[in-house]
Amino acid sequence: MHKLSLIIPCYNEEEALPFLYKSICQVCDIMSDQKFEFIFVNDGSKDNTLDIIKNFEVEDKRVRYISFSRNFGKEAAMYAGLEASNGDFVAIMDADMQDPPSLLPQMYSYVKDGEYDSVATRRVTREGEPPIRSFFAKQFYKIINKISNADIVDGARDFRLMSRQMADAILSMKEYNRFSKGIYGWVGFKTKWLPFKNIERVAGETKWSFWKLFTYSLEGIIGFSTKPLAIASILGLIFCVLSFIFIIYIIIKTIIFNNPVEGWPSLACIVLFVSGIQLFCTGIVGQYMSKTYLETKARPIYIIKETEKMNNDKKNEVQINKIEEIY
Ligand code: UDP
Ligand code: MG
Repeated sequence: MHKLSLIIPCYNEEEALPFLYKSICQVCDIMSDQKFEFIFVNDGSKDNTLDIIKNFEVEDKRVRYISFSRNFGKEAAMYAGLEASNGDFVAIMDADMQDPPSLLPQMYSYVKDGEYDSVATRRVTREGEPPIRSFFAKQFYKIINKISNADIVDGARDFRLMSRQMADAILSMKEYNRFSKGIYGWVGFKTKWLPFKNIERVAGETKWSFWKLFTYSLEGIIGFSTKPLAIASILGLIFCVLSFIFIIYIIIKTIIFNNPVEGWPSLACIVLFVSGIQLFCTGIVGQYMSKTYLETKARPIYIIKETEKMNNDKKNEVQINKIEEIY
């Protein structure tokens, strides 16, 4: 009998969690031959998410939880869940039902005999998403696949079922600036892709603002490609050649027409343009430096405030103290 760990990162999901819990319980009933553990990772929610999870835990032995000291982001939550899990297979899914739990039996059928190491899901439509967001997402996948070696699939979701071996491989990548879509591609293993239609979240609202998505996409580019650095040096080279040609042109013009002063507007434009390019390139170098700086600090990816084990130990201690008091 295999054990499946379901990891669910939750940030302000009080409205969606009851729906999700009901749905994963139904799936477990279908897959009654397997053992399950549900690991809810509370990523510093400001609403009643933690209380709801604690209620599940009281009622249901399969439920475990990890609660962070603050909001560390979905990447940290997924990593913490993977670290805490001990199943033979591990699945990661969103709390908002956009990753339909009903796909789990089908996903499990591909990995259970070792035919595949992981089953990943891909949205084939982006219905219900603002068109501008879809446009930028498409451009991002185009760019990152051109400039990086990691195979990053357009529309790939974080919803995945993978073997223990692959989960351990992901855990061995302890980088602080995490970009899972790249990490999955980087570790390799045989992956089956399941396409499905986009589903809108069941309740609550998305936690990803446009700006958050933009910085996350930079994380992906910087984490999985050093091409922007090469682009910066190539741009530098092109401008050196251009300036050399321009110097020769000015010298010849001065000798023939004897008028070196003319052309102030074009000069101003060139100075502005070139200094813009210089700042842009310094910015690229700065981005890599800042990531290196953060990595060298080797800060923990997340900090735990509470888990179900800590909570239960505390309860037991109180009970033991009470018994001691009586005797
Ligand atoms: N999430 C999280 N920490 C965050 C932001 C999001 O754990 O800082 C979780 C969130 O609770 C959900 C999943 O990540 O389970 C996906 O978030 P969301 O549905 O907001 O993203 P979208 O589906 O719009 O891309
Ligand atoms: Mg969602």
